[in-house]
Amino acid sequence: MITAIYPGSFDPVTNGHLDIVKRANKLFDRLIVAVLDNPRKTPLFSISERVKMLQKLLDPIENIEVDCYQGLLVDYVRKQKATIIIKGLRAISDFEFEFQMALINRKLEHRVETLFMVASSKYSYVSSSIVKEVASYGGDISYLVPKEVHSDILNKFKTSKFKANG
Ligand code: ADP
Repeated sequence: MITAIYPGSFDPVTNGHLDIVKRANKLFDRLIVAVLDNPRKTPLFSISERVKMLQKLLDPIENIEVDCYQGLLVDYVRKQKATIIIKGLRAISDFEFEFQMALINRKLEHRVETLFMVASSKYSYVSSSIVKEVASYGGDISYLVPKEVHSDILNKFKTSKFKANG
């Protein structure tokens, strides 16, 4: 049984993330979408909001679990008895950092393989930051995020003081 972990901030989940999840799900027995709870960052959506949005979206799909983790990814990978880390690559700019992370993760745990999945061209410009930027100015984000979480994301902008670059 091969378990893969797809880690990220998912602040918030986008159509680009969903595309990677669906494609990765075809390749492994078990896929865990793991939300990083990073105390050094101040995300717009709390860890439980991010997990809830992912669950709403992914619970209907078989063999996918949603979870969160703190600390080193390789420790979490070991805990889940996983062997694969999935990363999405949108552009060369993603590559440099991800390449470094893949090497350090292999150094920390040699049994772990990082697999890169190339973004679908129609989502290659989509990122959580772009979603937040557009939504903060009242722009349409319906083609950037899954319809199941669209209103959750909009509600956040009604209630939060979030401003672009803020
Ligand atoms: P971001 O804030 O950059 O969207 P995340 O940490 O939430 O970042 O991303 C989690 C993972 O999903 C990373 O491996 C990232 O490269 C990948 N990813 C993010 N957006 C896309 C996309 N549009 N297409 C493919 N992969 C993506």
